[in-house]
This record gives sequence, structure tokens and C-alpha cells, in this order.
Amino acid sequence: MEAKQKIEALRKELREHNYKYYVLDDPIISDYEFDIRLKELQALEDQYPEFHDPTSPTLRVGGAVTKNFETLKHEYRMYSLDNSYSKEDLEDWEKRIQRILGDVQVEYTCELKYDGASISLTYEDGKLVRAVTRGDGFQGDDVTTNIKTIKSVPLQLKGDYPPKFDIRGEIILTLEGFAKMNQERMAQGEEPYMNPRNTASGSLKLQDSSLVAQRPLECLLYSIVGPNLNIESQFEMLEKARSWGFKVPTIAALCKSTNEVLKFVEYWDVHRHDLPYETDGVVVKVNRLRYQDELGHTAKAPRWAMAYKFKAEQVSTLLNKITYQVGRTGAITPVANLEPVLLAGTTVKRASLHNADQIAKLDVREGDTVFVEKGGEIIPKIISVDLTKRPLGLQPNEYISNCPECFTKLIRKEGEAQHFCPNETGCPPQITGRIQHFISRKAMDIEGLGGETVELLFKEGLIQNYADLYMLTEEQIMPLERMAEKSAENLVNGVAASKQIPFERVLFALGIRYVGETVAKKLAKAYKTIDALMAASEEELVAVDEIGGRIAESVIHFFSEEKNCEIVERLKTYGLQFSLSEEQLQNQSDTLKGKTFVVSGVFETLERNELKKLIEDNGGKVSSSISSKTSFLVAGDKMGPSKRAKAENLGVLIISEQDFLEMV
Ligand code: AMP
Ligand code: ZN
Repeated sequence: MEAKQKIEALRKELREHNYKYYVLDDPIISDYEFDIRLKELQALEDQYPEFHDPTSPTLRVGGAVTKNFETLKHEYRMYSLDNSYSKEDLEDWEKRIQRILGDVQVEYTCELKYDGASISLTYEDGKLVRAVTRGDGFQGDDVTTNIKTIKSVPLQLKGDYPPKFDIRGEIILTLEGFAKMNQERMAQGEEPYMNPRNTASGSLKLQDSSLVAQRPLECLLYSIVGPNLNIESQFEMLEKARSWGFKVPTIAALCKSTNEVLKFVEYWDVHRHDLPYETDGVVVKVNRLRYQDELGHTAKAPRWAMAYKFKAEQVSTLLNKITYQVGRTGAITPVANLEPVLLAGTTVKRASLHNADQIAKLDVREGDTVFVEKGGEIIPKIISVDLTKRPLGLQPNEYISNCPECFTKLIRKEGEAQHFCPNETGCPPQITGRIQHFISRKAMDIEGLGGETVELLFKEGLIQNYADLYMLTEEQIMPLERMAEKSAENLVNGVAASKQIPFERVLFALGIRYVGETVAKKLAKAYKTIDALMAASEEELVAVDEIGGRIAESVIHFFSEEKNCEIVERLKTYGLQFSLSEEQLQNQSDTLKGKTFVVSGVFETLERNELKKLIEDNGGKVSSSISSKTSFLVAGDKMGPSKRAKAENLGVLIISEQDFLEMV
């Protein structure tokens, strides 16, 4: 068994060197010595394949090729983060927290926000078993093979780790590593990469893992999720992860107040330029995990965390031309076409100008030099004009008065900032925009049909509205440009399959102004069938929870147009879902109508989210903080004493999980 022992000893030694080099940045042997030992191990492993170990340091060099990355569900959802930009934002956040937690002393951890690609790593018995990208937060791509080549990701943990957990982090490229990659590329006559962030995230999806192994990627970790972790706070979590061998940046601070948080932010806003990697802000988290649990999540982000964004970078460039885009609702958006300029790592060519007022306010003119800034959004914005650079005789911008697509005279309603093209049924981008919205993922999700094909079908005169999609035949589609038998078949099948999409999404797909996903759900639930909805008066609509006058008016307007009713009638005959399904109806009741609930603590039989869903399905409303409007406080285990006191003070009824279940 001498070979086995030798192999294991070498693995152990190399792991430790890896750790010192890649995690601690503090190597104790030379690269040359490391390579010699690695080769020695490789030779032994080749000779004794029976001692194979998926966590061996020799497997870091990659080699396996992945053709298709499998989609995997995250056991714990990966949320996004809410953003704040000022002291006031941060203080508002603290107030919201205090409202939910009551009068308790809240401490915060501050970490840097690493700018790369999110990743979730699963460890079982100390071994890396899976690495999945964030994807849409519910599921992502299995990129384990590629992640294994990143040397700062431990394949085997050390110390006293829990048997099973997920750890979240960010895959990044250091500025130095990125610069080196680009030097090599340019030496080979290739175009340099644009920025570290996109390059890091692109690397994860390379098919050949040996290429990934050559990139100087790093993995910085910040959060652990799993059962029975035995961890009390975020700060402790960071320390524990570090002790198990993960690379967790030591730039993290425990702050006793938002004032201390702001000091951290101010310091790093200046010193971030000395860091080896890019950061675009600070992530502030409520330190105690018990409070985190109590605060829970919104639909998109945890309530207990907040990203504080550093002020965006600015550049100045020439504005060549102002052009105008027509959206699906006919809204006109002016666009600044800029002389391309590098800003925060990407080349910027266009910026939004929002509306006529914005242009007037900035007094931007074609030919001006303007300051451009990139905030959190993808499209950068124009901050101001550099008047010192304005050429003599530059004319003020004259806003268009006719639609650039169909030449109809534009209108602007009282109190609205946007100009509109009123030619709803004849303006091409409005027609195709509505159809594109109809087929989009959150609406009818029609597979085999994309935005460009919609434009093509429209141009060829095959569709005039979304109902026409259901009349398309393969024979009509096949002869079109870039179409073949298979793609025509897919398209027709995709359209047919969409007939099963549930009512609330059909309602959203219709594209009624102000009827977004959530409103569509509310209306579907309240009216149950399209006929009932079409028969509703404005007063009745407004009486529905969370439906305001603006929405009600828009719904009435939509169904008052004969053309729209005709289309709905046609869609009905094609078999689309225009009422809630039996199953949806069965799981719903009005038992809790008019009642507002606050849910707090830990429950025995239900997850907090299941409980909230039950409340909503039965017509009740969930609120996050107790007020005089609260009807019931559903109290679980470990509920904060201040919450109970507040409920008692306001005379809110406190009920148990069991009481609640009996109610429904
Ligand atoms: P966003 O994508 O802008 O909503 O920001 C959320 C993302 O920030 C998360 O998915 C993480 O990948 C990333 N992130 C970077 N650094 C941190 C950190 N220290 N704590 C939490 N999230 C972080
Ligand atoms: Zn038009």
C-alpha cells in the first residue's frame, strides 16, 4: 500500500500549497518546485488509476469538454440585491428594518460587492460536488467541470465543516490577470476583451475546461446556506468559511450603526482603486441570521441586505445625432447617438434621453459634447452638456412632431412626459411590439418564435395581430428567409402549445396598458373569467384590491375598442385559456377576504412562504409590519418580544399556526 500512501501524502501537500498560493496569496515554495511535485503525483496516478480521487490537485488542469450545460434547480433560491445610492436610502432601509424587527439593536456587516459572475457551490462531506451559475435565481447551468479548474475553489475542505451546504460567491478576474490575458490575446493578433466582468462570466460557459484552467479566474465567497449550520451571524459565517479553506476577502467589517456603515463606504469609495479586483459598491447585511430570517425576502431580493453603489464613472463624448424610437405602446423615446467612448469597461454608443422635457432641461443639441454616466442600468444616461465645448451657432434641438415610422402626428396627454404615436393599429413597431410582448417568456412563452421572426412575418403580410399567429401554417412559413421545414414546424407547434398557458398569463399577454404580470394575476383571481372582467365597470374594478383608477380606466378603454374584443373572441375560438382552471379555483377561497396578516417567527408544519401563499390564495393580504390595519399576527416560534408587545398594544389578534390552519 506504499503507493497509495505516497499518492495521498502528495495530494495533501499540494492542496496545502494551492491553498497558500491561491487563497492566502502567500506561497512557501516556488512554482517550479510545485510543478515537479504535481508531475510526480500525475505519474503515480497514471500508474495506479485505482486510487482515483475527483478532488485530486492534478484535476485542476481541466480537459473535459461540455457540449451542453445541464440546467439544475437551486435548492435555495439565489436572490438579487436591492440598491441604494445615498445616506438617505440607507436610513430609509434601516427604518424599514426597525419597523419589522421592532426595537432591537441591529448590527451590520459590510462587504465589498465583487463584480463578476455569481456562482453556487455545493459541498457534501467536504467535497465539491456541484457548481451552478445563478441563472434566473431558481435554476442555473451546471458548470462544475469548469469551476473545478479554478484553484481558489477548494475541492476538499478542511476543519470542522457541516456535512452538506451550498456556498455562494462571485467568479472574478483580477485586473492584473485580465490585463495579462489581453496582452496574450493581442500578441496573437486577437481583439482584446472588453471588461473583466463579462470575460469572467463568459469563461464559465466555455466548452473546453482546459481553456478555463488557463484563465486566472478566482472565486470570492460570501454566503452559506443549508440545514443545521450552527452559525449565528453573517460575520461568523465569513470566518467559518475562511477556516474551511475558502477564499473570503478579509475586507469586511462589523458595524454598529448606519453611520459606521457610511464610513466604510466612504473609505472604500476612495480606496477601491487600489484593490486587485473591481468592485462597484458595498453590500450591507443585517448581521444576525435570526433577524435575517425574520426579515425574509421580497419577490426579488432579501430585505436584510442592501447594495450601496459607488457613484458611477463619467466620461465626455460628442453627441452626433438624436434619433427617436417607437415602443409597443406608441411611446416615443429619444436616443442620443454618441461618438463611441469607453466607460466603466464597455464601449458606449447610445444613451437614453427619456423625453422632450429631459432634452429641454439639459438643452442638449446635436453636435454638443456631453457628459455620460453609467449607473446600475444597462443604457447609460447623459448628465449634462459641456458648454465650454459648444461650437458657435449650434441650433437648439427641435423635437419631432410626427411619428418617425408611420408619420402620424404625435400627441402628448396632459401631465404625461412622453409623446405618443396614436396610430395603434397601423404603426409597424407598435404592431410588432404588441406581438413580441404577446409571445415573450413571461407571457405566452411561445417556443420557436422570436422577435425577429415576428418582424419578418409582419413584413411578409402573414400576421397583423397576435391572433393571426394561430392561423399560421407550415406551408406559409417555410418559404421565408432563414426558415426551413424544421423551424416552421417548431413555430407552429410552439404556437399550438401556448393554448395551455394559464388565464392570468394570457391576460398579461394581451398587452393592456398598465396591466403587468402582478396586476394580471390580481384581475384573473378577482374575476376568474375574461367575460366577467369585460363586463366589469370602472367602479367595480377599482374596488379590487390594489387596482387603481389608472389601471381600471385602461382596462375599460381596451375592451371598449371593438378591434380588441374581436381579437379576444378569435383567441377564444382557437382554444386559449380565458378562465381560471378547475385546479386554480379549487385551491382558492375568499375566506380571508379583507383581512391583513403579519407572519413572524418559525413554524412547525409550514414554511413561512407556504403560509403566505395560503393567505393570498384565500383572499387575505400579507403585510410585513404590524400596524392598526393588521387583523392577525400569526406567531411562530422565536418571534421577537417587541413584535408581540406592539401587536398587543394595537389590539391585534395573535394566533398560532394551528389557529390559522383552522381558519382556512
Ligand atoms: P445584482 O445582480 O446587482 O442584483 O446584485 C446581486 C449580486 O451581487 C449577487 O447575485 C451576488 O452575485 C453579487 N455579490 C457580489 N458581492 C457580494 C457580496 N459580498 N454579498 C452578496 N452578494 C454579492
Ligand atoms: Zn407611428
